[in-house]
Amino acid sequence: MSKSVLLAASLAASLAAAPAAIAGDWSLAIHGGAGVINRGDLSPEKDKAYRAGLDDALKAGSAVLEKGGSSLDAVEAAVKVLEDNPLFNAGKGAVFTADGKNELDASIMDGATLKAGAVAGVTRTKHPISLARAVMEKSPHVMLAREGADAFSLAQGLEQVDPSYFRTEERWKQLEAWRAKQKAALDPTHLYGTVGAVAIDAKGHLAAATSTGGMTGKKWGRVGDSPIIGAGTYAQDGVCAVSATGSGEYFIRTSAAHQVCARIAFAGQDLKTAGEATIKAIGDIGGDGGMITMNAKGEAAFPMNSSGMYRGWASAKGKGTAIYADEK
Ligand code: ASP
Repeated sequence: MSKSVLLAASLAASLAAAPAAIAGDWSLAIHGGAGVINRGDLSPEKDKAYRAGLDDALKAGSAVLEKGGSSLDAVEAAVKVLEDNPLFNAGKGAVFTADGKNELDASIMDGATLKAGAVAGVTRTKHPISLARAVMEKSPHVMLAREGADAFSLAQGLEQVDPSYFRTEERWKQLEAWRAKQKAALDPTHLYGTVGAVAIDAKGHLAAATSTGGMTGKKWGRVGDSPIIGAGTYAQDGVCAVSATGSGEYFIRTSAAHQVCARIAFAGQDLKTAGEATIKAIGDIGGDGGMITMNAKGEAAFPMNSSGMYRGWASAKGKGTAIYADEK
């Protein structure tokens, strides 16, 4: 079967909807990355550990929203928990560059104001998502990169760590495997692990956040979609919120996160149709991955064309997690 046929098949199976929120209610959806994750790939222990990690993040985000807190605070809280978890490719446990370093990217967007903040290639901030938020709230800019962003982080008093904090043995082994095979940086079988969250709060405000180590073996200061507003992250009240994971170059080329929102706002598409069409546009040019999407009613959808995406959802009605594309 051709790759595109496989992609279409798994896409059709992947549109699981989360419980819908009613007006005045809150809703949260998170992801821990998409990739080639087939049943049997993960040991039962690993499967459990991923779901537990997702659950921890759901709890952190839900705790904010239950108390009437903002969606912005909720997505930051959820992403921080995933950044702290070494299983996911963000914060501790980030993948390595070709030079054996960790360079972290993150972005956040406030649907109420369309304010946004992003950082690329930072090396010393424990929670890159909080640095993205500081860029949004404490600087006149949207995006800061590399040494400048590291310096801004220090000046803002954000928690700093030695770059070795981000290292895990598993990610180092992945780099060694990558080096041995001299694989291209865009190997489609690469297992992504970017994390993200979208939420709507009781006031009806949407927010989105994404954080990543990027892709194993990246070089030349490569930056993916995650810190690019409109590609990896987008939120607009009354329309939708999106956080993406996958082969970032393709998400940039399709303005993926914004494309979902534009389809809803300008073409009148529903959430599922908009997400599915955007994933198809990504697949058509050779990209793969997934997105968490949420509309102004707090309904969530998880379109993907990869065989799995670590994901979870929560609302006043309950919560759940899923990994494989065909899992509801
Ligand atoms: N989208 C990320 C990037 O291209 C990778 C991922 O989702 O894990 O940097």
